[in-house]
Formats: sequence, structure tokens, C-alpha cells
Amino acid sequence: MEDTDRKRKSGDNSEAFEDGDLDLCLCTPPPRRPKPPIQPPTLPFLSPGPPQHYSPPPLPPPPQPFLLPDFDAVPPNATAGPSAATAAAADPPARPLRSRRNPSQAPRGANKSVTVPPPFPWATDRRATVHSLDHLLSQNIREITGEAQCKRCEASQMISYDLVSKFNEVAAFIRARKHLMHDRAPVEWMNPVFPDCGSCGQPNSMRPVVAAKKRSINWLVMLLGQTLGCCTLDQLKYFCKHTKNHRTGAKDRVLYLTYLAICKQLDPAGPFDR
Ligand SMILES: [Zn+2]
Repeated sequence: MEDTDRKRKSGDNSEAFEDGDLDLCLCTPPPRRPKPPIQPPTLPFLSPGPPQHYSPPPLPPPPQPFLLPDFDAVPPNATAGPSAATAAAADPPARPLRSRRNPSQAPRGANKSVTVPPPFPWATDRRATVHSLDHLLSQNIREITGEAQCKRCEASQMISYDLVSKFNEVAAFIRARKHLMHDRAPVEWMNPVFPDCGSCGQPNSMRPVVAAKKRSINWLVMLLGQTLGCCTLDQLKYFCKHTKNHRTGAKDRVLYLTYLAICKQLDPAGPFDR
């Protein structure tokens, strides 16, 4: 779950570094005095490239770079994608930065930046967080779009929802049903209905495409389409973790929390507390 996410994220840069560490460790067993090269002069010339015992003894491994405090790690601009990482790799300060990202050196999540580049105009720079309705309307953001793909013919299509009317639908559903839900997503949310495919005509088949990278998931479009149920438990737990929600339990509990939390982000004054 979290591990795969982290692995994916660190795959571009820190893994190489980790591997580097590993190599260093492997050659640590210090200058093992090679046996005096007084082998009988049997076949000195035939031996195919014997290890070179004459090189200077390996240097002791350099000390681990210090783990700098996290506040140092949060400049939002420094979190950009691989291009920034490769650019940074060129100059020396990149070293400690990369080592901070090394997951093996810090407790879970402690080495992640606080902010991320907003993946959508309606998302904030915090993970799993969208702007409020008021903010979005003030920015004239009224249409929320997302990619969907047909389960049968795999045709892709952009799905678009009117922000206000779809949000009102979800909110009305919650108002009417919340007391019956007992903190669990109802079947309508667990088994969402999808739009029909415009290409092959298959009904109920245009599933939203859920980004592989969790920080890039289009939460809002799935709230409005009431299709959050096609997220995995792992993805939903990620959402709850980053929005400080209790995040254990079965999928219907975590899905319920996700619906309420996104609604609350949109309308902080609404009836979306647990
Ligand atoms: Zn289709």
C-alpha cells in the first residue's frame, strides 16, 4: 500500500542512492590482507584476470549524511518531478536532499514534503484536498472534468460534471440518508453506476480512471459522479490518512469517511461531520 506508493515515488532518484549505499556497505569488510602472493609459480599467466590485490585498500565508507530536520525539506518548489530531480543531481546540495527522501532513514511519511503541485485546478497543494465551493466559484470553476474509460471497449472519454448541481445531489443524499448509514457507505456508493459508453454503447461502463500516483487522484470528479467506490481500499485509506480521518476498517467505512470528508472540504459548514 503505502510502500508501493513510496517506492514509486522514490524510484526515480533515491533508489539509486540507496543502492549506492548498499554497495559501499558490501565493500566495507576492510582491507582483508590478501594472502601473500607467494602461490607456487604454477600458472601465473593463465589465470584469467585475477582480482587486483594491489589496489589501495578500500576507503572506509563515508559517514551517512545527516538527516536534516524536516522544515528544511518543504520548499514547495523543490518537490517538482523528475526534471527538477535530475537538474538537482548535477550540483552537490542535491545529495543531502536525496538522502532525506530515503525512506529507510526516516519514519513513515516524515520525509514527505507538506505540499504537492496541485494536480487539478480544483485541488489544493495539500494531498487529498480540494478547494471549497466558495473558492472554486470565486475562481469561476464550475465544471469538473475527469477521464473515464470503458470497461468493455477501453475507449476513453472526458466526463464533465456541473459542480454545484452535482454537489447538491450528493449533499442531499447524505442529508436524507445519513442517519441510516451508520458510518458505512450504502450500496449505491459501494457499487457505483457509471455512464454508458459513447463508443460501444455498453451501459454502465465508463469507469473513472484513477491515477496510479495517489497524490494525482481526481477525488472531486469521483465525488460528484458518486463513483468513489471504484477506488481501492488502499487509495481510500490514503485519502483518509492525509485528511486526518480515522482510517482503519472495511471499505464501506473508509468510503463513507471519504465521501463526508470531501463534502466537508467543499462546504465546511455543511452537515458532513461524522
Ligand atoms: Zn465501450
